[in-house]
Amino acid sequence: MDKQTEFVLRAVEERDVRFVRLWFADVLGFLKSVAIAPAELEGAFEEGIGFDGSAIEGFARVYEADMVARPDPSTFQVLPWRNQSPATARMFCDIKMPDGSPSYADPRYVLKRALKKAGDLGFTFYTHPEVEFFLFKGESRPGERPIPVDSSGYFDHTPQSIGSDFRREAITMLEQMGISVEFSHHEGAPGQQEIDLRYADALSMADNIMTFRVVVKEVALSQGLQASFMPKPFTEYPGSAMHTHMSLFEGDNNAFYDATAENHLSKVARHFIAGLLAHAAEIAAVTNQWVNSYRRLASGGEAPTYICWGRNNRSALVRVPTAGKPNSTRIELRSLDSGVNPYLAFALILSAGLAGINGEYEMPAGAEDDVWSLTERERRAMGIKPLPQNLDEAIRVMEDSDLVAETLGDHVFDFFLRNKKQEFADHLRQVTPFELERLLPVL
Ligand code: GLU
Ligand code: MG
Ligand code: MG
Repeated sequence: MDKQTEFVLRAVEERDVRFVRLWFADVLGFLKSVAIAPAELEGAFEEGIGFDGSAIEGFARVYEADMVARPDPSTFQVLPWRNQSPATARMFCDIKMPDGSPSYADPRYVLKRALKKAGDLGFTFYTHPEVEFFLFKGESRPGERPIPVDSSGYFDHTPQSIGSDFRREAITMLEQMGISVEFSHHEGAPGQQEIDLRYADALSMADNIMTFRVVVKEVALSQGLQASFMPKPFTEYPGSAMHTHMSLFEGDNNAFYDATAENHLSKVARHFIAGLLAHAAEIAAVTNQWVNSYRRLASGGEAPTYICWGRNNRSALVRVPTAGKPNSTRIELRSLDSGVNPYLAFALILSAGLAGINGEYEMPAGAEDDVWSLTERERRAMGIKPLPQNLDEAIRVMEDSDLVAETLGDHVFDFFLRNKKQEFADHLRQVTPFELERLLPVL
């Protein structure tokens, strides 16, 4: 038994943990959970816990349904909202086939595979997301317009505001679970909040994002509120982005930093950016996986619509923030929204960047203007193409992508495309409030 496993078994006893929740994500990034009794833990570490994979979105075909969840002891944490004796804890799991081989459907494994490729080149991939979300009053019913908890805006400080009380409580819980928070503030729309997590390696961060969503929803519920990570709940307000800052490190050295280069961006960083731009359209169906995601991208404001990079340009897809110290040289990808599956998205972003490095892609000239204010012709002259404008377009580009097929693996790739085609087809049949409002009075 290794040290971490021993630690978990001891902690379960000392903290009087009676329920251990085993967590994993399905292909769309929804959290799944099964609680086991402490007596089952040793067996779970050794053999895993069996479950019916065919009942999980995207996991298995019915004739090969048996799958096994194997907890990763390094992810053990007591849940702060269930920390009184008897307490509840959680661990993330790797999903295995009955023969012990990794499940081809496990998003965590998809990310691990991509990270291994980076590891073989000597790189560790770090990410740091800025997660935006909405807080609504009470519980909104599906189909009904939710009511934001406040009418404040960007960076607003409102005395005794629901938002700041909420953020204080959520951040305290996140810190109790080992997730460090760097910044938090009110975002641009009424009821919209942002919490920025301190950077971590991409696998820990993907786990942290899954945990983050649970914590935020739990705290909201405990305060009689509802939290939502839906990309664009309101037509007239900005949506919820999950801007992600990223860098590659070689040991302790930031491989994106070069003291002598322009903007201190190393060759590795420039190729990485070029890779992201070259493959941005192919990975869009994953970075922006819902019909609703494209409402956000189409709305302008600070959401990117065009494939370009800029230094401090907030209309660009990739931004290179001004960095004070060598280690903070990084790039920010601004397309991701808060409804993303972080495992699959990080795997594809990394693969796109690595393709740029391996293929020595040239970084195009930066766009220092607001790309929204340029004419179509000016954008074309600069070689700036739009991101896919809806899920259907994104699916079509993805379908032809070797990079995406290879990174996700055939099973996840096929399932994802099938599922998203269905979503788009369902959406195409909808009669929307927009049509009723426009047409009923005149036709
Ligand atoms: N909420 C904006 C979006 O949807 C981003 C705001 C910001 O720049 O932080 O992209
Ligand atoms: Mg923001
Ligand atoms: Mg940002």
